[in-house]
Amino acid sequence: MYLKRIETIGFKSFADKTVVEFEQGVTAVVGPNGSGKSNISDAIRWVLGEQSAKSLRGGKMEDIIFAGTSTRKPLNFAEVTLVLDNSCGSLPIDYEEVSITRRVYRTGDSEYLINKQKVRLKDVVDLIMDTGIGHDSLSIISQDKVKAIVEARVEDRRVIIEEAAGVLKYKMRKKEATRK
Ligand code: ATP
Ligand code: MG
Repeated sequence: MYLKRIETIGFKSFADKTVVEFEQGVTAVVGPNGSGKSNISDAIRWVLGEQSAKSLRGGKMEDIIFAGTSTRKPLNFAEVTLVLDNSCGSLPIDYEEVSITRRVYRTGDSEYLINKQKVRLKDVVDLIMDTGIGHDSLSIISQDKVKAIVEARVEDRRVIIEEAAGVLKYKMRKKEATRK
């Protein structure tokens, strides 16, 4: 499985529809300071269910919506779609290409879609859990995370290893089942 493409509208500095295509292998994003490189990884984490505005380098969730410039009005919503190649079948869904979309409005309303069908956040989380691409997974490692992993308490480091090993899903399901 690999990330083929990201499509954004109104996410942070990407006011117009912006499509970023990825090839298999290594991609490097280069550009001047403030040009939006980190906004790309923020967009990926946001679709994957990131709920913390602070983690997305904002004060509140609304801050991810294009705020306007001196020549351009702010937008009312932000939308990001990740298109994943699933020809290897890593995602438990019977499609070779899977799109995951998140949309949020200034009113606070928010939507998730899988292959353009409205779903709940839980469906997105279930779909990607154990694939290693969750917003808080090891596939996205920020500079401060490296330090946090190295300095983590053993219990916390165990959670990191469990996620990498793919057993976290079963633990969470067990917790859910015993709560009922
Ligand atoms: P650096 O090299 O310094 O890390 P970068 O390429 O990673 O820079 P980003 O942090 O991705 O840059 O982008 C920051 C830019 O995004 C700033 O110009 C900021 O004004 C813009 N930006 C962030 N949020 C919004 C928003 N809601 N609306 C419009 N622009 C925004
Ligand atoms: Mg940056």
